[in-house]
Amino acid sequence: MKTQLMKMLDARKEEMIQIRRYLHENPELSFQEQKTAQFIVDFYKGKDMNVQTNVGNGLGIIVTIHGGKPGKTIGLRADFDALPIFEETDVPFKSKNEGVMHACGHDGHTAYMLVLADCLIQLKSSIAGSIKIIHQHAEETPPGGAKSIVDSGVLDDLDSIYGIHLFPTEPAGVVGYRSGYAMAGRSYFKLVIQGTGGHGSSPHMANDAIIAGAHFVTAVQTVVSRRLNPFEAGVVTIGSFDGKGTFNVIKDSVELEGDVRYMNGDTQQLIDKEIHRITSGIEVEFGVKCELTYTSDYPPLYNDPQVTETVVASLQSMNDPDIQKVMEFPMISASEDFAYYAEKIPGTFFFIGCRPKGVETPYFNHHPKFDIDEDALLVAAKSVGQVVCDYFKVD
Ligand SMILES: [Zn+2]
Ligand SMILES: [Zn+2]
Repeated sequence: MKTQLMKMLDARKEEMIQIRRYLHENPELSFQEQKTAQFIVDFYKGKDMNVQTNVGNGLGIIVTIHGGKPGKTIGLRADFDALPIFEETDVPFKSKNEGVMHACGHDGHTAYMLVLADCLIQLKSSIAGSIKIIHQHAEETPPGGAKSIVDSGVLDDLDSIYGIHLFPTEPAGVVGYRSGYAMAGRSYFKLVIQGTGGHGSSPHMANDAIIAGAHFVTAVQTVVSRRLNPFEAGVVTIGSFDGKGTFNVIKDSVELEGDVRYMNGDTQQLIDKEIHRITSGIEVEFGVKCELTYTSDYPPLYNDPQVTETVVASLQSMNDPDIQKVMEFPMISASEDFAYYAEKIPGTFFFIGCRPKGVETPYFNHHPKFDIDEDALLVAAKSVGQVVCDYFKVD
């Protein structure tokens, strides 16, 4: 079956590219992917599988492929939403939906997965078990689609789950893996500091919110530099501070917003606690009122070490000119809602190099000029196909 699958994928490389280009031209934002979801459902029409639509808090689609015999069930996930970005590439299939762009490669994820799924449907009699293809909506916008799909219970029967992301730091042909914590978790906070406004000439009759806010910004820098174990990773960024006012008016209130990233749950808790502590300190120190909203969304992504080890061995055993190198990747400080699947189901999320040919410094995911080497689609399909074949022990 494995040889046959690889041959089928080879023969359908062009089709993957065409699907990717169609999706690229017609991107849709998270939670608004009606046409994309319809395109996916239409692709499966007349094929021998079961499809569930509107899964979770949006347009999630679960396609179940039952093998020839009963056995274990695995999940393969591909996301399909785009981003609110004005595309700045010169590709002929540039976004027709102005201000929306597939700048994270989810068009490619969906394209390879559709073709792979179709091939697996055709070969399913050789499989002892079932495969659930998870076409996931809304990865880019918290709360995301993944958590709601997990909560819906449709994946309760999964024994294992896999996903990939296109990643332009490496060329097509490279497959990256990372065991254990691989991608960062993320929290958001908003702090409103309420002081007392007044005349610039009379600070003693007012209570300056800008001063308190400035101290908060400075104090927060000590969370990572002074509180976090230097061998752990964390980021705290204040991305917004609305101090704009008038030169001779003492500002009565300011609002700050920030982003927090961490590589494990302990760091998540530590940063959360410290930011709350600093906020209380600012209230005491400056006599202001602070209202802190602190929410955590995507957790750190944890790749099951055993599953990852098996996948790496499986990929390394491939004798295929399209898969040139299987290498360990560093931790990635971006976040991914695949983390919700991996919290519940042992699985691994790996990376497919997609750096455009002849480019030394590629534009990273979410850049308006982000682009991929479309050879990566076949690499993704073959790698995930290999993992499926080895999981079900079919040659
Ligand atoms: Zn993204
Ligand atoms: Zn993405």
